[in-house]
Amino acid sequence: MTSLESQADLLRRTACAGLCRYYKPHKREDPGCGGVELLKRRPDLAPLLEALPSPPDDGLFALAEDDPRLLAVCGACEFRIDGCDFRDPAVARDQCSPCGGLRAVAWLLDENPELKL
Ligand code: SF4
Repeated sequence: MTSLESQADLLRRTACAGLCRYYKPHKREDPGCGGVELLKRRPDLAPLLEALPSPPDDGLFALAEDDPRLLAVCGACEFRIDGCDFRDPAVARDQCSPCGGLRAVAWLLDENPELKL
């Protein structure tokens, strides 16, 4: 992250543009999803976020969808109740994807098992 780039801008570039199926370049969501809001409060993770990969699938790296650490992120998310297909049991998995913020959290935890978020 450059000195002029905020943590929110870094997340928009890496987690949102790089990992989120729902990302819209000209729409700024504030607050963002649970993952982005969590990571906004962790500028110490900026160097790790710079290395965030952007694989073409929509997976959660090696983490299970019901990993308690990921469920906690979704539990605090503004979009969970009315706006998130991924955590809506009525939506089939092949019809939805986890958002980029949750995928970013999953990657961080997969790469850094000791990380406390
Ligand atoms: S997957 Fe859904 S509930 Fe979980 S953080 Fe993303 S938008 Fe929020």
